[in-house]
Amino acid sequence: MKLHIPGVRIKHTLPDVAPVPSLTLPLPEKLYMPLSMHIGAPAAPCVSVGEQVYKGQKIGEARGAISAAVHAPVSGTVLAIEQWPSARGGECETVIIENDGLETLSPDLCPHPECENDADALVALVRECGIVGMGGATFPTAAKIDSARGKMDTVILNGAECEPGLASDYAAMLERSDALLHGIRLLLMACGAKSAILAIEENKGEAISLLSGKLPADGSVKLQTLPSLYPQGGEKQLIYNTTGREIRSGGLPADVGCAVFNVETAIAVAEAVESGMPLIERYCTLSGSAFAQPKVVRVRIGTPVRHISEAAGGYETAPKKIILGGPMMGMSVYRTDMGVNKGSNGILAMAESGSESERQTSCIRCGRCVENCPMGLMPNYLNLFTRKNAAEKLQEYHVFDCLECGVCAYGCPARLPLVQQMKLGKARLRAWQNAEKARKEAQK
Ligand code: SF4
Ligand code: SF4
Repeated sequence: MKLHIPGVRIKHTLPDVAPVPSLTLPLPEKLYMPLSMHIGAPAAPCVSVGEQVYKGQKIGEARGAISAAVHAPVSGTVLAIEQWPSARGGECETVIIENDGLETLSPDLCPHPECENDADALVALVRECGIVGMGGATFPTAAKIDSARGKMDTVILNGAECEPGLASDYAAMLERSDALLHGIRLLLMACGAKSAILAIEENKGEAISLLSGKLPADGSVKLQTLPSLYPQGGEKQLIYNTTGREIRSGGLPADVGCAVFNVETAIAVAEAVESGMPLIERYCTLSGSAFAQPKVVRVRIGTPVRHISEAAGGYETAPKKIILGGPMMGMSVYRTDMGVNKGSNGILAMAESGSESERQTSCIRCGRCVENCPMGLMPNYLNLFTRKNAAEKLQEYHVFDCLECGVCAYGCPARLPLVQQMKLGKARLRAWQNAEKARKEAQK
């Protein structure tokens, strides 16, 4: 299986904006904190309606090992705990907080110097602070460290920006370089790894020169420059392109001795140790043709999308389509009163709807999708097998290896909705596998 980025490249462009200084927005009157904004079990609310909460106070308890705690991003009063539209699609239980504007800190917050050299204590703190993968994947970081401890030699820091048109990682690396390097040291210690690779795409020149001048003298952290190509930030691509190690189909980074963390995740880990502050804020890129000018902003998690666009100067043209995330993997949203979550690295507002459905034709068997797929898959066949509900074929052709990166759909002259088909194909295969398992158990 080839894991490098073959064929036509999607250039990893940056928005036409200086990534720093990022803009800190005025805070909204109400914040909407989804209790499910990570991979895994939703958090369980641990506050009640009417209760006073403080900035950084835990309001949702992690449920199980693959889950993440949720914290109040401001001080104020819990107005409601109810189902609300979620940036991950559908609705989920959400704690709605009325901001009192006082920014009163939770009395529980304090620095944690004991975590500097104690891996168990650090993992517990990371879990307590609700830190998740901030490149968009939102996998709980404590669970990732736990699953890989003692099995790896290399920690890779993903500074490759997960999608074209975003500059959130770039801004984070420039504005929080010291915290980033502290976070890398902490992650190395927690994972028991020998060395770290800080992987940055070549179009982020300022970050490369700033960070290369600050690397630790002991050589434990190396900076590696990568071509600016999408999907460079995919975990398997990044591991292959930095270490040459290939992960087998269905395998994990730990199988090849690696763990990958987004640069903002490393910063969040450092912040948890330095001040005890949980994950309540992140960088977010505002771009797209409806904005007069793209911007990188610092937002509190839970801030409604509408407030962010208005506070950042509003639209130049009324948007016809709003996407949370990047242009390739982001999700269209139809309401703007939902709060951004821990994985919201961008808001794209498009002046045109971009609907391609009327131009769809049948597959012309050009093979472009096969040539371009970074996972070496055959999207044209997977599309066919999904339509035919041929679950065994979907398995044989490794649909679960699909990153949902959108490269195949981007270059498809027939305008086929290939990513949606991959998602559907995975759901169909999962259902078939469950039914097979149940059938075999019944036979036993
Ligand atoms: S790129 Fe589109 S038209 Fe070409 S083979 Fe793939 S699915 Fe068919
Ligand atoms: S969406 Fe999946 S099938 Fe399409 S190019 Fe990306 S990895 Fe390949």
